[in-house]
Amino acid sequence: MSTEYLEIRNCPKCSDGHRYKLNVTRSCVMKMLTMSDINEMPRQVRFTRFFTCPTRNEEFQANIIMTDTSGNRIKNVTVEGIANDNERG
Ligand SMILES: [Zn+2]
Repeated sequence: MSTEYLEIRNCPKCSDGHRYKLNVTRSCVMKMLTMSDINEMPRQVRFTRFFTCPTRNEEFQANIIMTDTSGNRIKNVTVEGIANDNERG
């Protein structure tokens, strides 16, 4: 599991920007490299998650677009909460 950060620039509740901390579970697939893997374009996967606006203290739903490859699949994303300003990802 790894920690990644997500910036929401236009919060639907307060139209301000917030930074969220995400826990991302990836499954690394061990396999032999073939030519098609080398040329593989990262795939975009979409997750819909609930976020809490820290200004209004209300929940909203947003789509997260993340990239993965066949050797590094994203299994799950959970929203940990608001990231502190001193946390840099
Ligand atoms: Zn907000």
